Amino acid sequence: MNINISQYLSNMPIKARTAVLTVKAFITSENTATITCPVCKRSVTKDVSKFRDADKFIKLKAHCPCGHSYTVFLERRQQYRKSVELRGTYKHHHPDAPQESSGHWGTMTVVDISRTGIRMKLNVTPTFKVGDRISVEFRLDDANKSLIKRDVIVQNIKGPYVGATYSMAQSYDNIIGFYLLK
Ligand SMILES: [Zn+2]
Repeated sequence: MNINISQYLSNMPIKARTAVLTVKAFITSENTATITCPVCKRSVTKDVSKFRDADKFIKLKAHCPCGHSYTVFLERRQQYRKSVELRGTYKHHHPDAPQESSGHWGTMTVVDISRTGIRMKLNVTPTFKVGDRISVEFRLDDANKSLIKRDVIVQNIKGPYVGATYSMAQSYDNIIGFYLLK
């Protein structure tokens, strides 16, 4: 296929031109992404494991052998979530009082867990807001009763239910990853 890219683009309406300049690709569970050139439809599968723990959009530049350069937005598909019932505690850090001693404790139940976060049910109506940082502590019901201690960022609040993502990847990702396979 022989394409004159600039001519190809200049003959297109703006909206269609944007569509050939940016594409979306999904990160698989094997941490690869298949990227298809929007002009010549040639596909490449790339190892994207270095972006594994990123929880925001990832933007890449791709240069196809056909001559076309375009932007790729890498996205994760919805993470696998495991339904659980794991009792634990949380500590809310007040954003305007940064000392570790500040904040309040409460008990909660983790109702689902994934590699990127948890959803928990509080016994009281949450007093924190989306974007707040919370420390959570709970034990998995695996053979070792593994203790999980994490800082999480609140993503959504629905009644007593709070969805939150881990604030950073840590070494016991493996523990949660293994737990999710069972
Ligand atoms: Zn191409």
